[in-house]
Amino acid sequence: MMTYDIVIVGGGPAGLAAAVAAREAGTQSILILERDHELGGILNQCIHNGFGLHTFKEELTGPEYAYRFMKQVFDEKIEYKLNTMVMDISPDRVVTAMNKTDGMIQIKAGAVVLAMGCRERPRGALNIPGYRPAGIFSAGTAQRLVNIEGYMPGREVVILGSGDIGLIMARRMTLEGAKVKVVAELLPFSGGLKRNIVQCLDDFGIPLKLSHTVVDIEGKERVSAVTIAKVGPDMKPIPGTEERYTCDTLLLSCGLIPENELSKSAGVELNPVTSGPVVNESLETSIPGVFACGNVLHVHDLVDFVSEEAKKAGENASKFVKEGAAKSSKEPIKLVATEGARYTVPCTLDTDRMDDLLTVRFRVGAVFQDSYVSVYFDDERVMHNQKRIMAPGEMEQVILQKKKLSEYPDLKTITIKIEKE
Ligand SMILES: Cc1cc2nc3c(=O)[nH]c(=O)nc-3n(C[C@H](O)[C@H](O)[C@H](O)COP(=O)(O)OP(=O)(O)OC[C@H]3O[C@@H](n4cnc5c(N)ncnc54)[C@H](O)[C@@H]3O)c2cc1C
Repeated sequence: MMTYDIVIVGGGPAGLAAAVAAREAGTQSILILERDHELGGILNQCIHNGFGLHTFKEELTGPEYAYRFMKQVFDEKIEYKLNTMVMDISPDRVVTAMNKTDGMIQIKAGAVVLAMGCRERPRGALNIPGYRPAGIFSAGTAQRLVNIEGYMPGREVVILGSGDIGLIMARRMTLEGAKVKVVAELLPFSGGLKRNIVQCLDDFGIPLKLSHTVVDIEGKERVSAVTIAKVGPDMKPIPGTEERYTCDTLLLSCGLIPENELSKSAGVELNPVTSGPVVNESLETSIPGVFACGNVLHVHDLVDFVSEEAKKAGENASKFVKEGAAKSSKEPIKLVATEGARYTVPCTLDTDRMDDLLTVRFRVGAVFQDSYVSVYFDDERVMHNQKRIMAPGEMEQVILQKKKLSEYPDLKTITIKIEKE
């Protein structure tokens, strides 16, 4: 059996940033395992710009952003294996993987970083009636076809779902000469970033119909028309509101699901809200020495935050290898999201192990205008930050200070909620 100090599962932006940070923290023996034939993850197909504004203060394309981290991996001579699928991770951190040259390999890891990203919700999970003709693609598949394989999935397009990938593909398909007739969104608000609604729909005159869903797909061999209808508060289509669009393509952009089959079989506890692992302040999962970061932990809107989070996971994995499992004399403090806030990452924190500042990320469950993000230490409100607008498509954060927490030695629960005043 091979041994490495740190094994990183996934060579996307999260895996790359974790690897670089672990090396900078002094760990020499690091192996990245990537199932694709190249490093970079989903960014390789995101050829639009808008990446890296926070990290590099520059507007980069996805591949350019990924390459900044790949270059550091190459320069640091961090080992990686491509075309290598991780099949299993055991609770005692034995990683089983498979590729064409080595066959099945087993690696004993001092620490493991989960960085497998996420996948798109498929049509099968959406209960759309109608036949199953050609011409129905997930938005990410269409993006790969157009940007990497060089194929046009269709000419007349309807998009269901207004997540960022759907919005970006509305613009991409238009730039490639297709006619995008409408973007329909089931919810009364978009799941994507405001900037993507403006730059990808408004700038191209593509209508966004909120509270609408697909009620019929016509065509036996190939999609020939799609009918959408308005939905009521119960999410059921309202008879008489149907609108039919002739088209040859339906793109689905209806949510992303963290890729956690490996985590589950390893016995990692998952959060039912995010579908990602429950982690502590060190981004360590319920299995000591197994860390998680990036879209496998919770779906991010900006890759900059993925890199920032992954850096922490890499540093903490390195610390685990050097110092072993952290011991603490006290119960960790629980982080609770309620009243408008849907979840927090992390879920617990130990003040002995946290840095001077800890970023807690969360999403809201609805659109809030002129409201406050409030943080309570047990029953006392300690933060009350006004926000003009908050929407489920944009990740929010609060920063906790170790110094402030030290004033509350018996603190049990930190609650994040959204308040009107
Ligand atoms: C279409 C689209 C548009 C986007 N646009 C923007 C934007 O404009 N600006 C922005 O900042 N962000 C954008 N993002 C978000 C950003 O790309 C992601 O946040 C980022 O790529 C997540 O990084 P990751 O490493 O967690 O996941 P990924 O990039 O998905 O990488 C995960 C890697 O793990 C590998 N893997 C998974 N399972 C295994 C296994 N079992 N064995 C081995 N390898 C495995 C995968 O092959 C993949 O390479 C966009 C994302 C998408 C999908």
